[in-house]
Amino acid sequence: MERKRIYLSSPTMHGDEQRMVQEAFDTNWISPLGPNVNGFEKEMADYVGCGYAAALSSGTAALHLATILAGVKEGDIVFAQSFTFSASVNPACYEKAIPVFIDSEKDTWNMDPEALKRAFEKYPHPAAVIAVHLYGTPAKIDEIRAICEKHQVPLIEDAAESLGSTFKGQMTGTFGDFGVYSFNGNKIITTSGGGMLVSENETAIARARFLSTQARDPEKYYQHSTIGYNYRMSNVVAGIGRGQLLHLEEHKAIKQKIYRQYEAAFADIPEIKMNPMNPDGDANNWLSCITIAPDCDVTPAKIMDALAEYNIESRFIWKPMHLQPVFANCDFIQVKEGISVSEDIFNRGLCLSSDIKNTAEDMELIISIIRRQFGR
Ligand SMILES: *Cc1c(COP(=O)(O)O)cnc(C)c1O
Repeated sequence: MERKRIYLSSPTMHGDEQRMVQEAFDTNWISPLGPNVNGFEKEMADYVGCGYAAALSSGTAALHLATILAGVKEGDIVFAQSFTFSASVNPACYEKAIPVFIDSEKDTWNMDPEALKRAFEKYPHPAAVIAVHLYGTPAKIDEIRAICEKHQVPLIEDAAESLGSTFKGQMTGTFGDFGVYSFNGNKIITTSGGGMLVSENETAIARARFLSTQARDPEKYYQHSTIGYNYRMSNVVAGIGRGQLLHLEEHKAIKQKIYRQYEAAFADIPEIKMNPMNPDGDANNWLSCITIAPDCDVTPAKIMDALAEYNIESRFIWKPMHLQPVFANCDFIQVKEGISVSEDIFNRGLCLSSDIKNTAEDMELIISIIRRQFGR
């Protein structure tokens, strides 16, 4: 018999989701818009403490509309955190902008404010800055925001992985001109697929809703003066989101506990370090990650293979964008020349199973397999 699969981060449903989807069925609010969409937007805006929210079909769609609303146009330079998932950057490329990648700092693994300052010296007029809170750890977002404000450049905050994480008591995703969340299947809460764009700018969010529903002019017939998109979240999907949102704090507490369990379990192994926490923040610990000391013969690939033998999922750290073949021609700004911080973490890092449904036995098994690699 095959061993039970232990996932990296899989959906966890509670029943409230189905109840709200059922309501949508009972009232025949199946077709795109409806009370769940409006309700989910309001509840998300209230939860993160931001004025306005637009529910969309994915985090990528939200990033795309944020890019458009920030005014990014063909040929513009956009500064983007290199250490991220490609969806942070692809939307800028849909608009034919030119990404310039910014290295990370060691303290939070996110955009290095010093590297960002250097980027402004080289390219004084980027159209936008895209910062990320990777794995749920808040970036040094106040410093990043201050630099953007000084140069009067819009800040897009990719908080796809950090819903519920705070920096100095404020929710990540609410520091920038635009904030983006994702409800993809592996995120801390999920709608199977979906995203949310938030902003204090009411006009911009109204514009996002307009663009996301095919940009139809207010006429009786179908008239269009702008290119539109089919990016709106459906009322059925929004029902799942409303149900999940009721359990976000619970999910966060479990993810934090998983992180602390790994941290305690590897405390006596000097070769292993946990991914960093921001002392000014409270992370949702979406994924717990480790890095292995340089020149250690236990590689991330070796640990991944050992876990896979027990049907336990793990994943390599995001490969930085400046190392991606598709972005080979893009510039990369780091504080010191030589091997970059993000590349170093990529080489030595591994994401461990951080599934909300992991049992105490699952955690013990994962931990014991990893400890064994180090002869413990
Ligand atoms: C998941 C993710 C996205 C994309 O969100 P989707 O909802 O899958 O489109 C964007 N950026 C980061 C950092 C992500 O992890």
